[in-house]
Amino acid sequence: MKYEGIILRQISGFYDVLSDEDVIQCKARGIFRKEKITPMVGDKVTIDRDEKIIISISNRKNQFKRPLVSNIEHLGIVIAAKDPVPDHLLIDKLIMSALINKITPSLVINKTDLASKEESERFENEYQNTGYSIFKISCKEQIGINDLKEFYSDGIICLAGQSGVGKSSLINLLCADTSQQVGELSIRNATGKHTTTHAQIVPLPTGAMLIDTPGFSSIDVEDIAPQRLHYYYAEFDPYLGHCHFDDCMHDFEPKCVIKKAVNDGKVPSTRYERYVSILRSLQDKKGRNIR
Ligand code: GDP
Ligand code: ZN
Repeated sequence: MKYEGIILRQISGFYDVLSDEDVIQCKARGIFRKEKITPMVGDKVTIDRDEKIIISISNRKNQFKRPLVSNIEHLGIVIAAKDPVPDHLLIDKLIMSALINKITPSLVINKTDLASKEESERFENEYQNTGYSIFKISCKEQIGINDLKEFYSDGIICLAGQSGVGKSSLINLLCADTSQQVGELSIRNATGKHTTTHAQIVPLPTGAMLIDTPGFSSIDVEDIAPQRLHYYYAEFDPYLGHCHFDDCMHDFEPKCVIKKAVNDGKVPSTRYERYVSILRSLQDKKGRNIR
């Protein structure tokens, strides 16, 4: 019988496929090797339940090396309201990287128990007119976790952010109602050595699925053409196309409506300044490639 399913994890050539609430350990059809396709965690697959074989793999929405997962739907960018000091450039790049890969970014401000109201609100103000969802939580005091669970109600979720912001703490809280083991699985292979498996995804009670190891690369940002960078700033949207020059990059150009919006306080100056710094690095890179 043929069934649809999703690959939750991969252990030494076997794939655990979630199908109709059962987890079935399958092998991949031999033909995949010939076609140079390797099934990966996150893949939507068709399996033969009797033969325990993966028959086909649906087209991937996106796929990553780190984490080695496909079809990511949500990127939860975790920030600490206090300790460590936020790396805003990283946050901005993670947002862009999500957008490049058709992923919905959301911002999760953790450790609100350590920060004053003003400190937590500073981040909100910085990102509020991007339109992305912003959550204020405390893993320590378990505040705001249920709202987050409700928001992440479908698709595969990846958490990313600086070290020490509370990603692992949050993964543990989100998975608290599941029977799944979280963290890298360590298994003994035939020679008795411990091998570490790749990331796995954990089905949550809401229907969403969480990648159990944090991390997401923002390397794709380096491939953005400088003149396209402004499309990755949602708060620039209402102004794009209204600058004096059609090809305005909102840098040195006169009569620029983005710069005016920054001066009028409609676009946060900090976001704009980081836009310029990323723009310069993309232009430098392009210049180097041409030479
Ligand atoms: P990761 O590196 O992003 O995975 O961060 P961890 O989950 O390992 O957390 C880093 C440190 O912050 C740990 O000592 C946690 O106990 C602590 N921590 C996590 N969430 C909170 C929180 O909401 N409030 C406070 N005060 N500490 C937290
Ligand atoms: Zn402009």
